[in-house]
Amino acid sequence: MKAAPVLIAAFVVLFIAEGKRPLRKRKQLRLKQAVINSLVSLPAFSLLRFLLLPVLVKLAMKSKQLQFGLNYQYNAQPVIKTIVAFLMLDYTNYIWHILNHKIPLLWRFHLVHHCDPDLDVTTALRFHFGEIIGSVFYRGAFVFLSGATPLNVLLYEVFFETATQFHHSNWKLPYPIEKALNKIFVTPRMHGIHHSIVRQEADSNYAVIFSFWDRLHNTARLNINQHLIVTGVPSYNNFDELTIGYLLRLPFTKIHPWEKVNDGKDISTSLQDKNSLAE
Ligand SMILES: [Zn+2]
Repeated sequence: MKAAPVLIAAFVVLFIAEGKRPLRKRKQLRLKQAVINSLVSLPAFSLLRFLLLPVLVKLAMKSKQLQFGLNYQYNAQPVIKTIVAFLMLDYTNYIWHILNHKIPLLWRFHLVHHCDPDLDVTTALRFHFGEIIGSVFYRGAFVFLSGATPLNVLLYEVFFETATQFHHSNWKLPYPIEKALNKIFVTPRMHGIHHSIVRQEADSNYAVIFSFWDRLHNTARLNINQHLIVTGVPSYNNFDELTIGYLLRLPFTKIHPWEKVNDGKDISTSLQDKNSLAE
């Protein structure tokens, strides 16, 4: 399956679109961020392509051979099984993202992604290779248990990576369109809130493709206006320090606590309508 052209095309389209219609104001030069994020992503990208994907496909084949996973335990049309496989894989990735925020060891690696001072399509590349190694075990286990077929796994991966690029992008979609789209899918405004320096906002909106997991589990927080959002991690706000070498070493250093942001926002009142996407 030739997925690379799809992913490259999506990246180029989003890169151009967010340049023309930016959603949030930038703090640093776009080119600088693009270079840092691309280079930090190289080890992670290699592991994704040459370790994670082959392992996931192998485990899907093994599950099929043993007729072990959940999807092999009932009879239904292939299209139904594909939808069920997609939902299972996306749901387990939603949980994986929560674990990355809640378990200190996992947060060390996920922090590299979150401390990007600006949020755009290049942030979708910025993952530490340690996070990919962790996901080999976690995602591998759930591929095996779900009974997703090798084709399901590859197809889901293309959607997963395209969705990741889309919701990290700084593309200002017309608000009514995004609000409608957000009923089902994670969109740039929704994920922008997840990258906020306000801890309660960063600890929300964990979903990857389908936004309804967050609504279902009450982890959605959608009523924050984008112009109020400052992205990044407050204790890592010295941009000059966030070099490529530093970011690759970061998980192995002493991690700074989040640092409370006193921005005058009243979280309790903003909870009222948290399932309604703000402009
Ligand atoms: Zn996160």
